[in-house]
Amino acid sequence: MLPPSWTPPNTPALKPTPDPLTPDRDITHQHFQPGDQVVVLKGVAGGDLWGDAMHVVAPSWHTPTDEDGWRLRDPDGGQQTYITAHPRYLVHLSRRCPDCIIYMRALSDYLLPKFPATEEVTDCGWYTTTGLNQLVHSSDARSDR
Ligand SMILES: [Zn+2]
Repeated sequence: MLPPSWTPPNTPALKPTPDPLTPDRDITHQHFQPGDQVVVLKGVAGGDLWGDAMHVVAPSWHTPTDEDGWRLRDPDGGQQTYITAHPRYLVHLSRRCPDCIIYMRALSDYLLPKFPATEEVTDCGWYTTTGLNQLVHSSDARSDR
């Protein structure tokens, strides 16, 4: 069975927007497990949130934050099929858990009113991927990594 992909077919328009919610998210490393299907939310499309759907593979050190992270497999990642992310970047797709739903709702309430509900895909510019395949949120980015 193919998992649903949230990755939009066209190239997102980059519109840098502050994200006050993800940095403050309180979620444990153990909240996720290998095999979980997750999404990293990146922006807005068609009046809803969008992001990249990925699979949790194994525990992995997240060097940008010096904390426990997760190695993820991104089927649309190309050169960066495997990346390491911090747990607070992840939202469960495979099960509906209150923790992830609360975060997603808060992000919707904050973000969606800022953008017209058109089909345009907007990347809010929160994430970059380092040369060592570490996914980094803008609030965790440090110049020495
Ligand atoms: Zn969850």
